[in-house]
Amino acid sequence: MSPPDHISRDQLIARVIGPSEAELTCDECFDALDRYVELELDGADADRVVAGMRPHLEGCPACQHDYGSLLAYLKSRPKSG
Ligand SMILES: [Zn+2]
Repeated sequence: MSPPDHISRDQLIARVIGPSEAELTCDECFDALDRYVELELDGADADRVVAGMRPHLEGCPACQHDYGSLLAYLKSRPKSG
């Protein structure tokens, strides 16, 4: 019998939370959603500016719904100025 392999605390955390790609929390997602959608509509690289938004949306139906609603709203809104 051999003892279990020793793994560092960081490795253990990485195993628990998965890949180290930064992902927003729902609160952060909510705060950044306006900006993210505006950037996307402007043709800017929203995923680069608001890093972590895309992976969060892909894994969070609630935020994905908010994102879809906001996107539809802003698209239908006449441009001002
Ligand atoms: Zn969320």
